[in-house]
Amino acid sequence: MSNDIWIYGEHSNGRLAENTRDILSKASSMGRTSLILLGREADRVVDEACEAGASEIIVDADPRYDEYLAEPHARTLYRLIDQGTPPRILLFTFDPPSRDIASRLASKLGTGALSNVLDVSEEDGLTVAAVQWGWSYTAKCRLKGKNPHILLIRQGAFSDHSLKMANANNVGGITRYISMFEPDETFPRVIRSTVERKPGPTLTNARLVIAGGRGMGSADNFRLIEELVAMLDGAIGTTRAAVDAGWRPYTEQIGQTGASIRPDVYIACGISGAVHHMKGVRGSKSIIAINKDPDAPIMRMADVGIVGDAVELLRLLREKLQER
Ligand code: FAD
Repeated sequence: MSNDIWIYGEHSNGRLAENTRDILSKASSMGRTSLILLGREADRVVDEACEAGASEIIVDADPRYDEYLAEPHARTLYRLIDQGTPPRILLFTFDPPSRDIASRLASKLGTGALSNVLDVSEEDGLTVAAVQWGWSYTAKCRLKGKNPHILLIRQGAFSDHSLKMANANNVGGITRYISMFEPDETFPRVIRSTVERKPGPTLTNARLVIAGGRGMGSADNFRLIEELVAMLDGAIGTTRAAVDAGWRPYTEQIGQTGASIRPDVYIACGISGAVHHMKGVRGSKSIIAINKDPDAPIMRMADVGIVGDAVELLRLLREKLQER
């Protein structure tokens, strides 16, 4: 295994997670990469990982990774590091499973894990930019100390498409199959898990997100947004104000203490644009704001600002779409 850059690969249903692809794309532009894929489905992702530029792909298809538990994943990463030459950098996404695994691994190694990373570069040694104090600062840190440096990359930080294009021909290298567990090695078992499934795309993978805030006026008015996202194959989002009012569930909250989204189009309806909310929408390619106040902060950040009553405008949009 190379001692350059390792990436813990998130995958599901035979696809690499988009964040992992982004990280792989960036890492491949920096040096030799080893992508670690764990779980029975890992083999299905190998071709995609090659195309995304991995120099080496390490697959352990043991079924014991499949039930979601951080320990088997962290244990394997620990053993790989302990038994060989540690990589310089070990990259994870900042998604919840990776956070869980990276922190366990760091604890096993007696090292740290740096989260909310926005950039990694080799300028003047290994340097990273990371968000601090809830986006109040972006700190540039030079990394010292023993390898590996464990970094959790903020969603969308490496979603630069030109970078993907640049690596498009960087067809990957060898695949190695490993088996890290003893036959009788056991882990805690998940007794029951419940997954809430809704039709349509999720908040974090939708190309269109329509979110409503306090300016929507009531829980009932959110039905309009529900209808529109169903028509347009989008997802619904909201602000903490609407969650606190009991109008929407927390799972739809976007922002510092909610989800980070990266749709092509984000439509904010009756949302002021508080910094805590906007932290979650930075990855959006374009922002359309509907607000009755032309001086609302969101109007300065939006690509298109529409001054008007959000509920009225959404009704109009629904009518137009129904006429199609
Ligand atoms: P408001 O700020 O009240 O804005 C309502 C807007 O609607 C106004 O601009 C108004 O002009 C407009 N409006 C009113 N009526 C209409 C109408 N009929 N048509 C069109 N426009 C109309 N917030 C989050 O969203 N996500 C977070 O993750 C988050 N985390 C936080 C963490 C911390 C530590 C703290 C302190 C706060 C956090 N907040 C978060 C809260 C955040 O600071 C704001 O209070 C919240 O985002 C405001 O929500 P809002 O825009 O819906 O409401």
